[in-house]
Amino acid sequence: MAVNHGAPEDKTRHIGDLGNIIADSTGTATIKIKDTTIELEGDNSIIGRAVVVHAGEDDLGKGGHSDSLTTGHAGGRLACGVIGHM
Ligand SMILES: [Zn+2]
Repeated sequence: MAVNHGAPEDKTRHIGDLGNIIADSTGTATIKIKDTTIELEGDNSIIGRAVVVHAGEDDLGKGGHSDSLTTGHAGGRLACGVIGHM
């Protein structure tokens, strides 16, 4: 099902729309995110999916830019990784 980009608290959003994080002056961000939509198995599984940190602020789909409803107008990709089991 195709849905628009949104905020973590939105009823409809991409599974991976987890909101914004803030890095300190050294570029380090320590985060703890609790989400009720993502799962480790089933239709909403994030195993094998990428986690991407974008350069800009995510407007959570509400910025009115041409890419707000697809990417949150969050800018370029700074870092990424693949989520897996240890
Ligand atoms: Zn999204």
